Amino acid sequence: MHELGIVFYIIRDVKQAAGENGVTKVNAVVMNIGEVSTVVPEYLTDCWRWAADKEDLLRGSELKVNVTPAVSWCEDCHQEYPTVQYGKTCPFCASEHTFLRRGNEVEIKEIEVPND
Ligand SMILES: [Zn+2]
Repeated sequence: MHELGIVFYIIRDVKQAAGENGVTKVNAVVMNIGEVSTVVPEYLTDCWRWAADKEDLLRGSELKVNVTPAVSWCEDCHQEYPTVQYGKTCPFCASEHTFLRRGNEVEIKEIEVPND
């Protein structure tokens, strides 16, 4: 499953960041998942539960998914518009010279650690 592979990448990055910062316990990891990325947030959190509980650092931690909106840019009229609503056609000038600017990302936004 595609999401499980992504979870392993997240775990690797979180472990690395934790090691660099002397963190031994993580409460939650907050992800930015683009609206038009191919990741299904529900699958991602299911995979997280399974994989994170095998790691001391991440046992019991939560994966929070922050879905970020997809935005396209029109090269002809130089405006941004919401991709999901209008697709490849600019709603301002009907041009098809458009490209996705944001909304495809799968990135760690924040790592939450216990305060002490
Ligand atoms: Zn346009």
